[in-house]
Amino acid sequence: MTRSYQHWINGAEQAPSSGAYIERTSPAHGELLAKFAAGTEKDVDAAVEHAHRVHTSGAWSNVPASERARLLNKWADLIERDADRLAVIEAEEVGKPIVYAKGEVLWSAELTRFAASLAWQIPGEAHTHLGENKLGLVTREPRGVVGLIVPWNFPMVCLFQKLPYALAAGCPVVIKPSELTSGTALEVAKLAAEAGLPAGIINIVTGKGSVVGERLTRHPNVSMISFTGSTRVGKQIAATAAQDLTRVALELGGKAANVVFADADLDAALDGVLFGVILNQGEECVAGTRLLIEESVADEFVSRLVERAKKVVIGMPLDEKVQIGALIHEGHLESVLEYIRIGQEEGATLAYGGQRLTDGELAKGLFVGPTIFTNVKPSHRIFREEIFAPVLAVTTFKTVEEAIELANDTEYGLGNGLWTKDVDKALNVSRKLQSGTVFVNTYLESAAQMPFGGYKQSGYGRENGVDGLLEFMEVKSTFIKLGARTPVLPNTLD
Ligand code: NAD
Repeated sequence: MTRSYQHWINGAEQAPSSGAYIERTSPAHGELLAKFAAGTEKDVDAAVEHAHRVHTSGAWSNVPASERARLLNKWADLIERDADRLAVIEAEEVGKPIVYAKGEVLWSAELTRFAASLAWQIPGEAHTHLGENKLGLVTREPRGVVGLIVPWNFPMVCLFQKLPYALAAGCPVVIKPSELTSGTALEVAKLAAEAGLPAGIINIVTGKGSVVGERLTRHPNVSMISFTGSTRVGKQIAATAAQDLTRVALELGGKAANVVFADADLDAALDGVLFGVILNQGEECVAGTRLLIEESVADEFVSRLVERAKKVVIGMPLDEKVQIGALIHEGHLESVLEYIRIGQEEGATLAYGGQRLTDGELAKGLFVGPTIFTNVKPSHRIFREEIFAPVLAVTTFKTVEEAIELANDTEYGLGNGLWTKDVDKALNVSRKLQSGTVFVNTYLESAAQMPFGGYKQSGYGRENGVDGLLEFMEVKSTFIKLGARTPVLPNTLD
């Protein structure tokens, strides 16, 4: 049955002022899944107005942090209660395997619990050595209304690396989900109301980035935009926000490398490299889409990788055995196939995969399986550009220095992995890798306590960890004079 959604504004559903809706069809089988309200500037203005009222009245920021934490924990309970239902929506709209969608939902609940724990610990300082009768206070205040703009690949995780932290900090929000995958955001907003979070602190306006996202970024009563998405749109948002110096946090694209040294546990590395490039159909910002492998073990490693890749299960998102689902939309599939063509044209060797899959029921959807290119040079576009699909570019190296140089030879800097049994090498190389995250002898780990974010053109700002909370807070210094008056300008006194 088709799901039908409205905006979520001030604790209630609200029809779009345009009366228009965006249809989402399944990327796996083409059937209509959902209809989302096509938001307008007027809808954004209405949502911001409610959020701004909540901010200026202190209706959320004056709620004691312990109570904010209690409500967030209650909300996490409800997300866990409804995890199966939410996972189906997530899997269907994105096209991703249900097992990963379920993990994503549960992880979102865990992030909420962590953010709730931070609400108890918002840091402040008192300075008592500023001079006689002087006291200094350093306090942290919610920034104000925050616009959260998120992409389609991990609709819940990308949202929950922001939303509970903003709420823990005391900020009301207006959310702009991807127009392709808005379902779970709207569902969890209803759960927030059920948990008792006051109306007006979570508002959602669905629709196009060029309309809803643009207006949100320009709105004078929005104090901060926290954006996850492509580097191209991130730059646009930063430029627009700069006009009013609206604060911006950006989680953008990536082109991570998995660096495999000959002395690594190669079985473990095989697993990590394959998992790192196929998770979420490779539609993953930290996907390990470049394999840098020491020349002496390269041939054997790649032939074993191809054998493992043949066993990956590709199919319908709701099938629990499936490991790769459908790509997000037709235009994206075309762009992926174009990159595969360019890879061959530029001289890389297609060692495995590389076609649209059309066997049996796959013919109904947008499927590309694991694709492995060898003999990839740093000048090739498949080495440099984010393809956002399970396409791996393999390049060999001879020395540690060459490996580091190759890994850093990208405009991105979100994550990298390295595989070696030599602790010195692991520490030295990880220090030199220019990325916000480094995985050593593992890949795609995450923990709520560990900050996440990019170097270089992968963005700025951090999510998760204590940093993830502080992003949403202003710092205020207050100087207080106690007791007797000491003149600053004595000659002006009577
Ligand atoms: P996108 O940049 O096209 O869109 C992201 C969001 O921005 C969507 O909601 C979109 O509607 C909105 N948007 C588009 N134009 C806008 C504008 N002018 N003003 C305001 N909002 C606008 O990205 P996508 O295709 O949805 O997602 C894929 C990209 O996201 C990849 O590049 C991926 O690497 C990146 N990503 C990064 C992270 C991270 O944490 N660093 C996580 C997930 C995805």
